[in-house]
Amino acid sequence: QLSQRLKAVADYVEPGETVADIGSDHAYLPCYLVKANKVSQAIAGEVVEGPYQSAVNQVKEDKLTRHIDVRKGNGLTVIQPGEVTTVTIAGMGGPLISEILEKGKDRLEGVQKLILQPNISAISIRQWLQDNGWQITNEKILEEDRKIYEVILAERTTEIQKLSQLELLLGPVLLKEKSDVFKQKWEHELVQLLKIMKQMEMAEQSPSLKEKKKQLREKILIIEEA
Ligand code: SAM
Repeated sequence: QLSQRLKAVADYVEPGETVADIGSDHAYLPCYLVKANKVSQAIAGEVVEGPYQSAVNQVKEDKLTRHIDVRKGNGLTVIQPGEVTTVTIAGMGGPLISEILEKGKDRLEGVQKLILQPNISAISIRQWLQDNGWQITNEKILEEDRKIYEVILAERTTEIQKLSQLELLLGPVLLKEKSDVFKQKWEHELVQLLKIMKQMEMAEQSPSLKEKKKQLREKILIIEEA
């Protein structure tokens, strides 16, 4: 049974695409995509030996070795330009996902679609996408096991999409939808930030703290505005 989080990533894959799942761990996502007849060929990339072996074993167990190629390597180095149409990266922090995309930019030639699921700091991914000619065409937010996850679908664009600070932080699509889970996430975040602000007010003032307070105040204002 695939987690709801990975199912949300899989839902953005259209039949006939070829997929590389980077940081695949057990290769649950590519295995699901093939079993659901969404894709016939996929690559599972993993950099760490243990998870790499888990992926190899899972693919064997599911008898999918003809459909899924498990490759060991760092980030996008496991794919060749033009080899896949879609790249998925899930279950890592936003800054790590952005770093993988940035370092592997040259491998993204021919890739039409990125499906990204950051556990934290989706803002760094949205910023990277905006800076590198990708448009956010859909987003989803969901709760599973008391954790809230965001999924971002991005496609290539020639038009420059300039997101506001509000959209970068909260997500252009999620901001429009304002679902209950979205409200829950940002109300919680706001409470946490206000607590930190209060602690900062009590601390001894220094120039660096002043700057941090300024940044925090800006973030609080953005969330309050939403
Ligand atoms: N994608 C799966 C999911 O969402 O359930 C697994 C998530 S797991 C928390 C993150 C995986 O990414 C780990 O197995 C880790 O070894 C792998 N990983 C981290 N950095 C990586 C990189 N630069 N290249 C490939 N894999 C990486």
